[in-house]
Amino acid sequence: MTREVQPRSATRLDSYVDRYAARTKGMTASEIRALFAVASRPEVVSLAGGMPNISGLPLDVVGGAIYDLVRTNGPAAMQYGSGQGDPTLRDQICDVMRLEGIDAHPDDVVVTVGSQQAVDLVTRIFCDPGDVVICEAPSYVGALGVFRAYQADVVHAEMDEHGLVPDALRQAIAAVRASGRRIKFLYTIPNYHNPAGVSMAPQRRAEVLEICREADILILEDNPYGLLGFDDEPHRALRADEAEGVIYLGSFSKTFAPGFRVGWALAPHAVREKLVLAQESATLCPPSFSQMAVSSYLANHDWQGQVKQFREMYRERRDAMISALEDLMPAGARWNVPDGGFYVWLTLPHGLDAKAMLPRAVTARVAYVPGTAFFADGFGAQSMRLSYCYPTPERIREGVRRLVGVIEEELELRETFGTIAGEPHGSVERGYESPNTDLS
Ligand code: PMP
Repeated sequence: MTREVQPRSATRLDSYVDRYAARTKGMTASEIRALFAVASRPEVVSLAGGMPNISGLPLDVVGGAIYDLVRTNGPAAMQYGSGQGDPTLRDQICDVMRLEGIDAHPDDVVVTVGSQQAVDLVTRIFCDPGDVVICEAPSYVGALGVFRAYQADVVHAEMDEHGLVPDALRQAIAAVRASGRRIKFLYTIPNYHNPAGVSMAPQRRAEVLEICREADILILEDNPYGLLGFDDEPHRALRADEAEGVIYLGSFSKTFAPGFRVGWALAPHAVREKLVLAQESATLCPPSFSQMAVSSYLANHDWQGQVKQFREMYRERRDAMISALEDLMPAGARWNVPDGGFYVWLTLPHGLDAKAMLPRAVTARVAYVPGTAFFADGFGAQSMRLSYCYPTPERIREGVRRLVGVIEEELELRETFGTIAGEPHGSVERGYESPNTDLS
């Protein structure tokens, strides 16, 4: 017998509103979420979503590995495991990190539910309300949401086409210290930045390490895209040159598949112990089944060959987006050419506001993420994140064509009515747009 389930009313008032903890104040649903529901319709070209494109995964091989896992090791795979994570997988994770110059011991690795949970656990063990986390400007929306949930204050430091600007970092440190607040760590995405699309230049890496060493500031190096570069050699990790002052985060979401939810943190020994305790209180242990499935895939499949295929696929899409932008974008728009990863950061001609423009873009059947989602302080109105990871090259070109149509209309409106969009936009107290798969 089937039973129809009626959708619940979304307009009911929340009778718990005066009972929530203060930290939930910043947990707000994005105003652009409703638009993304429309954006996921097939007629819309979504340049918004950051979902890995796993269409090339050999599902028969993965299915076979999971079948073998259940047959040969089912009871262990379906049982609780260690709070720190499966020892075999931790060993393999050290091999993966070696590709970026990291020499690590499996004892210092904590497996997490995606690197997202690692950001959460690190923030949980370090941040009290009012503590400061320094982040690049812009920064990953999912991390900003975590910092906000723990009531940490985000202070941004500028980036340019070579990544975080050392002088901006020095200034941010000095300004926070002058205000009497404590900096708990620098959160940085050195490779194929989400959303900025840039990588930190080698000289910058040395300088950032030096600044943080001198100022005694811990670095949280978030590196889910590190193996998805379009050139041959992966960039050298910050953690490769500094073991004590860096917590490194990795993930199998982009090199294998996000559905397993397996990531990790590599931490200095003492921090590792605290992370394991935090992990145990959050989940008891990361899921054994997922960890063993990833472990078996790494052991029995040419996973690096698969990553190479992913990189070629993403490079082709990057090329499609860049050539469409070069051919079609009006004067005054600026963007970067990413050397890996999923994202282009585009700044509109002066006076245009990407957030205000989004409803018209969705009506024109193209979606993107407005830049304001990636700042804690209301900046970013003139910019947007464009993802090329998912649509085919033809759809990417069509998406850019539609976007250009909307921008040209906006420029005409500006000519006629003289609309003004200046930065900053919004206020420091505004809520972060909560991460969902469109913003990921
Ligand atoms: N960090 C960054 C910079 C990301 O872009 C993402 C996902 N898009 C994550 C962390 C979280 O990824 P996961 O939890 O799937 O490992």
